[in-house]
Formats: sequence, C-alpha cells, structure tokens
Amino acid sequence: MTGPQGEEKPPLECGHWIGAERRYCLARDDLRRYQPGLRCPAHTPAALAGRREPGIPAVQPS
Ligand SMILES: [Zn+2]
Repeated sequence: MTGPQGEEKPPLECGHWIGAERRYCLARDDLRRYQPGLRCPAHTPAALAGRREPGIPAVQPS
C-alpha cells in the first residue's frame, strides 16, 4: 500500500529496527530494495534469516 499522498520519497536508509538497541539501523551504504523496504547488507531478509547472500561474506561471531 502507498501513503495517502504517495509522492514522498522514502529516506535512503536501512529501515531495519534493531530491537536490542531500540533504534533503526539507518545505514546508508550498499542499500538494496526489498519488499519491506531498503536494507543494508547486514539486514537483508536473507541475512536476518542467517543465510549468506552471494558476494556478501557472513559475519560469524567467533
Ligand atoms: Zn541495516
């Protein structure tokens, strides 16, 4: 669904809500558009599901 006006550009920021930090990510680098909105590489649907995306090395806690 679009907003009632539908002409405002969404901010070019990662829209992922970081619950643990109670803030949005708001990263502006390497954004990709997904159905929920723009996401940085760390917060794509695949990344959040624990899957690796092609070309993006997974960050594994050691
Ligand atoms: Zn992000």
